[in-house]
Amino acid sequence: MECPKCYGEMGTVLNEETKVEQCQNCYGLYFDQLTQELLPGLFGKEEIDSGSDEAGSAYDELVYVDCPKCDKIMDQRKLEDPLSIRFIRFECCPTCNATFLDAGELRQYLSAEYLEEFKSLLPEK
Ligand SMILES: [Zn+2]
Ligand SMILES: [Zn+2]
Repeated sequence: MECPKCYGEMGTVLNEETKVEQCQNCYGLYFDQLTQELLPGLFGKEEIDSGSDEAGSAYDELVYVDCPKCDKIMDQRKLEDPLSIRFIRFECCPTCNATFLDAGELRQYLSAEYLEEFKSLLPEK
């Protein structure tokens, strides 16, 4: 599969209830589906997010991302950063619940400061 954001080559980094692929170019993570129900399956798996924060922020501004499964533009979900005044964003497909996070975002969102807010932005099931 191609990275929906930079068209780099993707490789599988987690193959459980939620299948996760990582881009070898921008290190973004693609989840074939991510919901509130599936989120606990990622606890303790933060190491799959091996890209640096710098690698992620380089792609933060690209706004339109097509879902690789549905070919539709993915929704932008915004989350208020509790530690600064800016927003942090991620892409979620409203049709199939596919989700794309830039490098470093999974580690950030699974931390105590962000977890509840991140969860509230995911589809329930
Ligand atoms: Zn990429
Ligand atoms: Zn989709």
